[in-house]
Amino acid sequence: MKSVGINGYGTIGKRVADAVSAQDDMKIVGVTKRSPDFEARMAVEKGYDLYISVPERESSFEEAGIKVTGTADELLEKLDIVVDCTPEGIGAKNKEGTYEKMGLKAIFQGGEKHDQIGLSFNSFSNYNDVIGKDYARVVSCNTTGLCRTLNPINDLCGIKKVRAVMVRRGADPGQVKKGPINAIVPNPPTVPSHHGPDVQTVMYDLNITTMALLVPTTLMHQHNLMVELESSVSVDDIKEKLNETPRVLLLKAGEGLTSTAGFMEYAKDLGRSRNDLFEIGVWEESLNIVDGELYYMQAIHQESDVVPENVDAIRAMLEMEDDPSKSIQKTNKAMGIL
Ligand code: NAD
Repeated sequence: MKSVGINGYGTIGKRVADAVSAQDDMKIVGVTKRSPDFEARMAVEKGYDLYISVPERESSFEEAGIKVTGTADELLEKLDIVVDCTPEGIGAKNKEGTYEKMGLKAIFQGGEKHDQIGLSFNSFSNYNDVIGKDYARVVSCNTTGLCRTLNPINDLCGIKKVRAVMVRRGADPGQVKKGPINAIVPNPPTVPSHHGPDVQTVMYDLNITTMALLVPTTLMHQHNLMVELESSVSVDDIKEKLNETPRVLLLKAGEGLTSTAGFMEYAKDLGRSRNDLFEIGVWEESLNIVDGELYYMQAIHQESDVVPENVDAIRAMLEMEDDPSKSIQKTNKAMGIL
């Protein structure tokens, strides 16, 4: 049983903690918080040992009646690996300032820069390259979504070139200070957006160019893909391939799943904790091939799609499983992924 800690128990951190706890070959030793907020209280109520990132703040946790087990440094001493889920930019500082000095393996999130971590990870793209490594970054939610569907298509018929336009949520549902609330924002306004190069950190040889926009919604990212194929296949071949691909769901607009709001309603009806949809939803009706080019639309639940990848990254880096498909299967079974 491997010992895992979460540094930064926020949107991603709390979900990774629950996903790790659901596995039978790893356990959460503790999670860190900076402030005695409701997430700190609920972490303790759920049974996680809470360690504080700012030791001087211990009295504020005591005043709030939230039990503290120790400091973040004390937690790190007890771990085989830490999953760093701190906000963008802090993970890279933690790598240099703390984890490397301690000789502690660490997984980072998509907000960190690939160059600063040195290695990126997606379960379906480059699991084998991360086996036994000390540091890796699970690519962002958008990049994870692109990899989940492009990998099986590449396996089936080869890809000459991908063009993708990403419509990105303005904020997560719990955020009040992000936007836009009344505009469509080319973000970044330059082409290509950073997403294509990010995909190439795990699908090394893929020819891909991306553009991205921010829109006023909290319910998922939406992607529009145009994929020039190497060899001739039918739409049914693509459907069959995506249908058999783990963590990808073909969903029908004709059954009322006409929008990202519909996909989120579907996740609620599945009874998922926090309404999470770990799978990438592809609109079945959107699949079409014109002049050797495949078109499709998909939706990405930004708060949860990277979570199973974090579990697989733990198995790869701690050399617990050298077969990616076995880790994916094990993670999925424990998390109830379709
Ligand atoms: P978040 O703000 O929801 O959570 C971050 C947590 O880290 C909070 O609990 C915060 O209190 C804590 N924290 C802040 N500074 C800290 C420090 N110095 N030391 C320890 N803890 C600290 O952020 P998030 O959305 O979970 O994002 C975390 C990472 O995951 C980022 O790299 C982000 O880019 C990436 N990511 C986010 C999403 C998303 O949609 N939210 C999706 C994929 C990847």
